[in-house]
Amino acid sequence: MNSNKIFFILDELEKIYHNEKRPPELGHEEPLDGLVLTVLSQNTNDKNRDAAFTKLKSLYPKWSDAARADVKEIEAAVRTAGLAHTKAARIMQILEIIYKDFGEYSLKKLAKEKSEFIRGYLRALPGVGAKTVACVMLFDMKRPAFPVDTHVTRISKRVGAAPLNDSPEKISQLYESVVPVERCLGGHVNIIAHGRAVCHAIKPGCKNCVLSEQCDFLNS
Ligand code: SF4
Repeated sequence: MNSNKIFFILDELEKIYHNEKRPPELGHEEPLDGLVLTVLSQNTNDKNRDAAFTKLKSLYPKWSDAARADVKEIEAAVRTAGLAHTKAARIMQILEIIYKDFGEYSLKKLAKEKSEFIRGYLRALPGVGAKTVACVMLFDMKRPAFPVDTHVTRISKRVGAAPLNDSPEKISQLYESVVPVERCLGGHVNIIAHGRAVCHAIKPGCKNCVLSEQCDFLNS
């Protein structure tokens, strides 16, 4: 790990994207909404994820309504998110487990627990990986977590903040070990913005990049 490079990335990107100063509101009052949204986001883009979530909520305003539906109906509702068969089954399994554990279709009780308990609980749910856990904790429960997606992975490795062979989960742990909680949300969003605007997977815009001075990819 190179924590100096992590802070270099965070500091330089904040100067141009300002999401630490003005953090976007990405959370939900009900953390279960955030969890289902993140399950829907796997292997698709934000537009298709949001369309599926909106349709699901319009058909089943309460999660108890969705839990009573047939899984085929849930599958039809979330079709725009892709992998609908798998995602519908996961959503139904998650709803069942949460009701069994908390006596309600809600994660508000879980959100009051200690961070490590929350992390372990969410990670044990079917189909829920490290990125989903970090998103729900950070956005919906305001807990310290640093979600690592393809943009964060790419930029961290290219600049030299993380070893080239690290997994996204390992990179997430690196960030969480050094980044103060108040910088996590804005820092995460800044890096994604930079990945979309400048540091593309193919043909990155290095000439116009504020990270170029210390980027291993460019200077190796
Ligand atoms: S210098 Fe190029 S490779 Fe390095 S972070 Fe910037 S755009 Fe990405």
